[in-house]
Amino acid sequence: MNQFEEYCTEFVQGIGGKDGAVSPSIVNSASFAYATPEIAEGIFDGSIKKPLYSRMGNPTTAKLETLMAKMDGGVGAVATSSGMGATTLATMSLLTSGDEIISIGGLFGGTYALFSETLKRFGITTHFFDVDEFQNIKNVINENTKIIFLESVGNPNMRLPDIKKIAQIANDAGIVLMVDNTITPMSILPLALGADIVVYSTTKIICGNSSALGGCAVFRAINDGKDKFKTPRYQELHKFIKGVGKMALIANAKKRAMRDFGMSANANSSYLTLLGLETLPLRMQRVINSVTTVAKELSKNGLNINHPCLKTHPHHERYLNDFKNGCGTLLTIDMGTKEKAYQFLNKTKLATITANIGDSRTLALHMASTIYRDFDEDTRKFLGITDGLIRVSIGLENPQDIIEDFLAAAN
Ligand SMILES: *Cc1c(COP(=O)(O)O)cnc(C)c1O
Repeated sequence: MNQFEEYCTEFVQGIGGKDGAVSPSIVNSASFAYATPEIAEGIFDGSIKKPLYSRMGNPTTAKLETLMAKMDGGVGAVATSSGMGATTLATMSLLTSGDEIISIGGLFGGTYALFSETLKRFGITTHFFDVDEFQNIKNVINENTKIIFLESVGNPNMRLPDIKKIAQIANDAGIVLMVDNTITPMSILPLALGADIVVYSTTKIICGNSSALGGCAVFRAINDGKDKFKTPRYQELHKFIKGVGKMALIANAKKRAMRDFGMSANANSSYLTLLGLETLPLRMQRVINSVTTVAKELSKNGLNINHPCLKTHPHHERYLNDFKNGCGTLLTIDMGTKEKAYQFLNKTKLATITANIGDSRTLALHMASTIYRDFDEDTRKFLGITDGLIRVSIGLENPQDIIEDFLAAAN
């Protein structure tokens, strides 16, 4: 688990002040005074780096963005009001009516609805594929394809993508690869694997305790020489590349999405998210150990568990090779029927019944009757939502206590 060691130092040292206030200051101002008209002009033309207005950026949020960019090796990041805000910002800043998205694996219900219903109303078509449909993915690519989107771990189907291989397909075709890395911060580094943009719901394990809704999009630098963003496919970006060079994706996200849609993060949430980030490496290590302990023990006791650490999982080999730092906090239990699932949820004393994941506490939810209730049968089948499916997010409790409670609840 040495992967997490460097983050321990970087986060606590990066968040705490060495002069004056140790805890980050919360700048609760919507607007910022410019002192003189000359300075105002400079701030608006970008030659003076000072806050403009909190919809476009805030000093507390900027601290969070700096650390998030560092975590993923990006050139910069834009924090948002929620995880859906981050996905909306990252996609809408690149898309124009008539464009197409290829969505692979997963998929988080909100993202599925965004792609299949909302973006569709704006003339954007999304093609959905399972993680291993490589040839079908290649076949559907055309000149209108702007984004290949994938989740690092299928939520809640627990299928694992071959991110490197999909990045290769995206890069060969000169198409943006966007990865929702909400479930595996630090465990998976999408930019290092060939992705261009990483999106997060920081509401989950990054904040970690249900105190703040938030999201973040991390962007890679535009290359000096050849770059897929310099091709005609991404024409809308060219003026930003001319203006700010390697930072073009940040300027593009702020001007083509944040300014006009206003999914901006607020300083209070950014502060709480920073506090979460401080202990994220420690919590990640504990949870990814606990989740495998719990999955194996429950499976051994006859429960129908879905987690890639189990030999029966179709992506067990991929898990061992590509997910050495775990695949997050989730596992699912298929109780067979809705009645049995409800019985389990009514009997567990430990799990909190909620739609969240990645919390300090163990959380559980019946999928078909809640997040996926609005989807038809075929869609549920594609997303792996069976009648008895319970999604569990393992928390920081003693894993033995979780096992005992779950075995009692299942009987
Ligand atoms: C929760 C979640 C989101 C959406 O995040 P919000 O902060 O709730 O808007 C997106 N993707 C994944 C994988 C999630 O788990």
